[in-house]
Amino acid sequence: MATVSIIRSSCLYGSVNLTLSKIILDDFLFVVIFITMNDNPRVCKICKMPESLTEFSPERRTCRKCVSKINYQRLRSNPAKRKSFETYQKQWEHDNNDARSKYDLKWRRNNFERLLLYSARARAKKYNVECSLTLGDIIIPDVCPVFKTPIKKDLVNSNNSPSLDRMVPAKGYTKENTHVISCRANIIKNCGTRAEHEMIVSYMKENGC
Ligand SMILES: [Zn+2]
Repeated sequence: MATVSIIRSSCLYGSVNLTLSKIILDDFLFVVIFITMNDNPRVCKICKMPESLTEFSPERRTCRKCVSKINYQRLRSNPAKRKSFETYQKQWEHDNNDARSKYDLKWRRNNFERLLLYSARARAKKYNVECSLTLGDIIIPDVCPVFKTPIKKDLVNSNNSPSLDRMVPAKGYTKENTHVISCRANIIKNCGTRAEHEMIVSYMKENGC
């Protein structure tokens, strides 16, 4: 007489649901893995917003944004814990320089728009100009609209890295007034006014440069 026992365990990774079934039939063990996609949004138990499953850590009912908010508030409210966390973080960065650089590079490649937005907000505050940009307003082109050179997200402040240009500086960082151009184009543009640039061009042409 055959004896059958089934052990099933299931877990959710982003929008992928993995079900592992171990079937023991007499003395033989069969392992069956079911992979199913689940694209239904899940409602976060804190902010009550329906989010796609990729916005949740596996098996959590709280979205990533709320989790990071909670962790941040916990650290803020406990100075001793914050200090020890910062010390640990500094030590880790010191001991894992390569890993840190790799992580930074990966983050920059995936989040350069965010980096541009945060630095625009800081500059707007510094120069007391408007900044109404949102993340969706920043679209990094493949080539610089001025020099037609490829724009690279690998480095910060290199000639070919992306930068936000305020067409009219006094109008601040609004969607209409902001373009993404290469850092080099931005630096050269900011060195003078349009009239000055035109005078430089005529001077260069007159002298056969
Ligand atoms: Zn949430």
